[in-house]
Amino acid sequence: MQLVPDATAFISLADLANVSLDGDGMITLSIIDEKYFVAQLYFYYSAMNAGKSTSLLQSSYNYHERGMHTLIFTAEIDDRYGKGRVASRIGLSSSAELFSQHTDLFREIKHANDAQELHCILLDESQFLTREQVKQLTYVTDHLNIPVLCYGLRTDFRGELFEGSLYLLAWADKLIELKTVCHCGRKANMVLRLDAEGRPFHDGAQVVIGGNDKYISVCRKHYWQAIEQDCQHAIFGQGAKNSSDR
Ligand SMILES: [Zn+2]
Repeated sequence: MQLVPDATAFISLADLANVSLDGDGMITLSIIDEKYFVAQLYFYYSAMNAGKSTSLLQSSYNYHERGMHTLIFTAEIDDRYGKGRVASRIGLSSSAELFSQHTDLFREIKHANDAQELHCILLDESQFLTREQVKQLTYVTDHLNIPVLCYGLRTDFRGELFEGSLYLLAWADKLIELKTVCHCGRKANMVLRLDAEGRPFHDGAQVVIGGNDKYISVCRKHYWQAIEQDCQHAIFGQGAKNSSDR
């Protein structure tokens, strides 16, 4: 009998063994042998404020609690919590390696794994990955046999896919949507970028650094309504809350 943390990270094992979920959401394995373990690439995607960072940190914690080792990455572009840190709105945080568009993720992960066996790789802000980096992550799962959990936004404020999200949607083994809700109660799957007056941006650069704009998650219906009426207040009435977590 062996306990394995993070049911979703090991879901592929469910195909190979008799498994059951206990009260903590842990998979209890009865017959599986580690040599049959097949690592997979996961993409946890959502709009903003769906608790992606919280989910990432919880998964990492589950591994550590079992004496296993993880490696966390976040995008260099995101310095809200200081360099090399993933933090959630509910107070959890962890140090993290930084990746830029030039980071060779396969090489870095292999190097780290050679020094200390890794049981899971977790990437925050994975929408900022390049096509090449997503390919490198598929090599991590397929050649190093380490599960890779990517967390990121599906689309930008224009409703367009990010490059990292595009290739994760295309190549990941498992796609898991983390849900958040619009003020109307529908699932919020779109992100509005608002200027200081609460007017939505229709276009512009995909990534804006250092601006004072607000980003809010809304349902598709209210996304188009805000864009067409050129005003968030037309749909929200009292305006919207500022957001800090993605
Ligand atoms: Zn709505």
